[in-house]
Amino acid sequence: MDTADLPFLTVTELQRRLRARELTPREVVDTLAARIEAVDPAIHAYLSTDLDQARRDADAADVSLPLGGVPIAIKDVISVAGQPCGCASHILDGYVAPYDATCIARLRAAGAIPFGRLNMDEFAMGSSTENSSKGATLNPWDTTRVPGGSSGGSAASVAARTAFASLGTDTGGSIRQPAALCGVVGLKPSYGRISRYGLVAFASSLDQVGPFTKTVEDAARLLGVMSGLDPHDSTTLDAPVPDYAALLTGDIKGLKLGLPKEYFISGIDPQVEAAVRAAVDHYTKLGAEIVEVSLPHTEYAVAVYYIVATAEASANLARFDGVRYGHRARDTSGLLDFYGKTRAEGFGPEVKRRIILGTYVLSSGYHDAYYLQAQKVRTLIRKDFEDAFQTVDALICPTSPVPAFKLGEHTQNPLAMYLQDIFTIAANLAGVCGVSLPCGFAQVDGKDLPIGLQLLGPSFDEARLLQIAHAYEQTTDWHTRRPS
Ligand code: GLN
Repeated sequence: MDTADLPFLTVTELQRRLRARELTPREVVDTLAARIEAVDPAIHAYLSTDLDQARRDADAADVSLPLGGVPIAIKDVISVAGQPCGCASHILDGYVAPYDATCIARLRAAGAIPFGRLNMDEFAMGSSTENSSKGATLNPWDTTRVPGGSSGGSAASVAARTAFASLGTDTGGSIRQPAALCGVVGLKPSYGRISRYGLVAFASSLDQVGPFTKTVEDAARLLGVMSGLDPHDSTTLDAPVPDYAALLTGDIKGLKLGLPKEYFISGIDPQVEAAVRAAVDHYTKLGAEIVEVSLPHTEYAVAVYYIVATAEASANLARFDGVRYGHRARDTSGLLDFYGKTRAEGFGPEVKRRIILGTYVLSSGYHDAYYLQAQKVRTLIRKDFEDAFQTVDALICPTSPVPAFKLGEHTQNPLAMYLQDIFTIAANLAGVCGVSLPCGFAQVDGKDLPIGLQLLGPSFDEARLLQIAHAYEQTTDWHTRRPS
């Protein structure tokens, strides 16, 4: 085949051609390398690539495996043995991961080639990738705008066709929101579906790894490979891993979709609302029944999240002290001065803000008023979802209240940035699964900006969630459009 078209293939199609020997894994890596060289300077999705290793892996690839010979780009927060893992933070400058995360080991066992480190907000804290210490990633649809975050590099690389698929993480929306802003598919699996072993922890009770892809079918394939019990992560569930891709029948007749009334609020961009409402109508035509539901504690989700997530982050980030790896301050006097200066120099402003907030909400005297109270409200939020899923198979709503915003638009106002996740955060607090897929475009300043449709499903019901997403995708063509 003409390798000019190669970067535009889905994982599924790429794999088919590799198996049919129409292509070799080496040609795939070479073509992708050329594409990255040509396109990435305008986007800055990649922090680094190890193409020599990727070529060696390609030469050894077994194309009969489920993802044999397929290169996959990785967010800079997931450990790949021998590659840098810096979380886009100065504090981890020079750190190289000594082992593979479980999700990476499983991708490798399925024949995939993990290569390339993708930009992100430092330690996954942010919604725009502007908090990266390595410079922002730009949105391929309009390079004056952000790609979303924190997995901005993961979304932008798939949108720019400099990656066939990528991995990101979602603690409060960091897969779904950038997927929406870049016009690709982003899947946040249920908490406990994919092992977190080898993922640098931000908020351990919320973090999940998931795929970015061009299609729902590709997401299903990656999910199937990475899911399942892992003795290294006691929060993974010992539940069977279905053949997700095989279950994509296209038929959703009789399924019930819930329209959460709290997710259609004032302040949502009219073009986003119109596109999501049109998607709801489309589902009616496909035979789904739409019912209005209520998730009454939604309004507390952002507040609860910024207590729980910062509390966990303040504990998780205590390990970065410069003693064994990463950045070390010079000219210090004594241990405390060394810790203080190392951390002051190594962490960026948003990470420091979160550590201070998290330490505060856990401190004696405030712990009960903030942290404990937030945990109680979290239980109510989880119960909202459980109640809703008694009557509906999935929820349908916008992923983000607005399309991609301008670089710098919210950097001086952390609260405005935090509100970007208003529709994604509750799902993490509840542990349920969610996906964002393209459902239209907003016209802003003469540019087309992608709009994301969010579907949320009960814990461990990714099969149903993907089936619902796939039925929409297969009867629309939003996912086939790509930035010029
Ligand atoms: N934007 C949210 C935050 O800043 C969510 C980030 C994430 O999911 N990692 O915390």
